[in-house]
Amino acid sequence: MAVQTQTENNFLNYVNGEWVGSDTNETIINKNPANTEDVVGQVQKSSRDDLNKAVSAANTARNSWRNLAGAQRGQYLFKAADILESRLEEIAECMTREMGKTFPEAKGETARGVAILRYYAGEGMRKVGDVIPSSDSEALMFTTRAPLGVVGVITPWNFPVAIPVWKTAPALIYGNTVVLKPATEAAVTCAKVFECFEEAGLPAGVVNMVTGPGSIIGQGLAEHPEVNGITFTGSNIVGKSIGQTALERGAKYQLEMGGKNPVIVADDADLDLAVEATISGGLRSTGQKCTATSRVIVHSEVYEKFKDKLVSKVKEISIGDGMKDGIWMGPSVSESQLNTVLSYIEKGKEEGTLLCGGERLCGGEYDKGYFVAPTVFDDITTDAVIAQEEIFGPVLALMKVEDMEEAIDLANDVEYGLSASIFTTNIQKMLSFINDMDAGLVRINSESAGVELQAPFGGMKQSSSHSREQGEAAKEFFTAIKTVFVK
Ligand code: NAD
Repeated sequence: MAVQTQTENNFLNYVNGEWVGSDTNETIINKNPANTEDVVGQVQKSSRDDLNKAVSAANTARNSWRNLAGAQRGQYLFKAADILESRLEEIAECMTREMGKTFPEAKGETARGVAILRYYAGEGMRKVGDVIPSSDSEALMFTTRAPLGVVGVITPWNFPVAIPVWKTAPALIYGNTVVLKPATEAAVTCAKVFECFEEAGLPAGVVNMVTGPGSIIGQGLAEHPEVNGITFTGSNIVGKSIGQTALERGAKYQLEMGGKNPVIVADDADLDLAVEATISGGLRSTGQKCTATSRVIVHSEVYEKFKDKLVSKVKEISIGDGMKDGIWMGPSVSESQLNTVLSYIEKGKEEGTLLCGGERLCGGEYDKGYFVAPTVFDDITTDAVIAQEEIFGPVLALMKVEDMEEAIDLANDVEYGLSASIFTTNIQKMLSFINDMDAGLVRINSESAGVELQAPFGGMKQSSSHSREQGEAAKEFFTAIKTVFVK
């Protein structure tokens, strides 16, 4: 096997505190989806043997890591935050070139990664348990938290900094060691985050990253007997199979999966605000957010007015290479994602009326990338495929309703339950939405996409395995409660 070295464009696996090439000696090349002539970098196409080495390193490191004080573990995260912050623009640029979101969004996401690291660094000094009065007056009874051990982290491409960080940082602060497998499409960006962990001086084996195919490395993590917990974000089909595998061998698992998020526009809504939030929530990041708005349920009284405003604003969206000034929406992440979106658009043309968009963008610079026009459909019924299945592209389906009850029924009429918004100025409508909406994130007069890092994040129904990420809620997954009785 030829020895490889980590260079600006060639990323190795990070195992036991070192950058190492895969045993396969094969790589995967990532290109810019806005311009496929631009090669962003290459990562390892790793094998199960590579993965086994990483798990073994994490297993060896677990005892000394868990025995550090939380505040000591926190110091490493503070350092990693400072390093990530110092490389913010470079890493954000890599993200834009690798997966297509605009540079301002990529900078925002990287800054979010910094803030998450700092939040969890501080968590190392917060309380871990409760004292519970014992019925024995001479005894002391309390709870504390134990780490799971080795945690496998499997992440998607759409937030290649924020999601790896929001899983890895809580795993580490609560005393676990980590083996992470990033999505191949955005693995170079994730490798740069691991360079920050390396520079922060985390002890060897505490964090490890192995790149490669999901069916080999992701599945390998789910199956590995020394991996005590698996946290996954991605599609439903993969999530369910990981959950099944983990369940069969008694490992703890956490699944964050898809969404089909509705926005309700009531008859008393501020329509300009609702239009702006529908566009931002539905089309930013080219609709490639799990919390993206995809169904827009509008009261008949304001339907035509809302529709006209929405379509005229959507037509103004500037599309192109997200590194360029003035570009609001970038490309789809890959050719296969573009083709998926285009096939849903063709389905939408059969199921409803096309109001704008509806095609791949061609000509000039567009020919070098995977650009699709932001698309709005009218006359969509709730049983339509484009009203039921996650598209993960810039496609909005409009639906007309006569009252709030019908609106909430439609909003709930999908298998997902991640995020939901309503636009109304009426407190009763807000309250019934909060009560009746089956979603983990319920947002009033605000877009469906958007979460604050200190608040619990996750979905209901098929969107999630129901434990929550982010904030203090992350503790539930990454630790086990120990009840202690001392006499
Ligand atoms: P994906 O399911 O294809 O891949 C996610 C990860 O799983 C990747 O690292 C992939 O390599 C790995 N993987 C693929 N096949 C595997 C297998 N057989 N076994 C184990 N691992 C495997 O998803 P994606 O295309 O990267 O991301 C898009 C999806 O992620 C969308 O469905 C979106 O809704 C979802 N998502 C959800 C959230 C959330 O928090 N709910 C956030 C972001 C994205």
